[in-house]
Amino acid sequence: MLLENKVAIITGGTRGIGRAIARRFAVEGCHIAFCGRSRSPQMIAVEEELEHPGVKVKGYAVDVTILPDCQQFVEKVLEEFGHLDILVNNAGITDDAAIKRMTEAQWDNVINNDLKSVFCMTKAVQPTMWKQGFGSIVNISSVVGIGGNVNQANYAAAKAGIIGFTKTAVKEFGSRNIRMNVVAPGFIATEMTGEISEQLKNYWQTRIPLRRPGTPEEVANACLYYASELGSYCTGDVMHLCGGMEDA
Ligand code: NDP
Repeated sequence: MLLENKVAIITGGTRGIGRAIARRFAVEGCHIAFCGRSRSPQMIAVEEELEHPGVKVKGYAVDVTILPDCQQFVEKVLEEFGHLDILVNNAGITDDAAIKRMTEAQWDNVINNDLKSVFCMTKAVQPTMWKQGFGSIVNISSVVGIGGNVNQANYAAAKAGIIGFTKTAVKEFGSRNIRMNVVAPGFIATEMTGEISEQLKNYWQTRIPLRRPGTPEEVANACLYYASELGSYCTGDVMHLCGGMEDA
């Protein structure tokens, strides 16, 4: 198993891509601490689905836009799991509008949830990883942060910001054997993209050479590569996981 007895924090593990990452890591023997904003029925369902002998799985209600809450979350995980090896910054939202109609609240909401959250959680795990001299952090960006997308200026800015943040962090953390990599998915079939109209889905699919959306499991496989020793010489990578999508 690739992650036997490792401990991973996965933000936004209650559904979609985060849930698939938690599932994939658990199959590899990893103990999972995941979060969502509340202790929802979905959170309990993930705990029940993934917990099995030899693998501890626990959901925490944490808002990853608030630094002290992230720091408390990491402290609790260390108390309850004993150590920490991996962080996957997956939590994110969309709140779309054209720039001319986008409100300040929409801008702040997405920048906080998609970009500030990565800063908060990285800052919360950094002292532990620094002290122990290892750690692997995977950040979920998006091809929209690379090529832009109409009505998503806030989301594109946040997801591009994750890449700049990562490129800087690898320079600050590399000497302590803390790796950080980015997975930038294209169009992945989850609840988030389920809200997109059929017309828009068709338009996107004409731009994907593989002619299909990706699956959360395919994103999880990429995260496994970077989180595990398979990716031991990778840091600062940006993997475009998009079926060959144009502009990505
Ligand atoms: P979903 O909307 O299905 O899930 C989002 C997750 O993030 C939920 O578990 C939600 O938990 C959690 N979350 C959101 N905000 C917070 C917060 N402030 N604190 C804690 N948890 C939070 O999204 P996806 O699975 O589709 O996307 C996951 C990631 O992948 C996101 O970063 C997204 O931008 C990115 N991505 C997705 C693509 C796609 O096509 N789906 C493409 C490219 C990137 P809860 O609601 O329980 O609080």
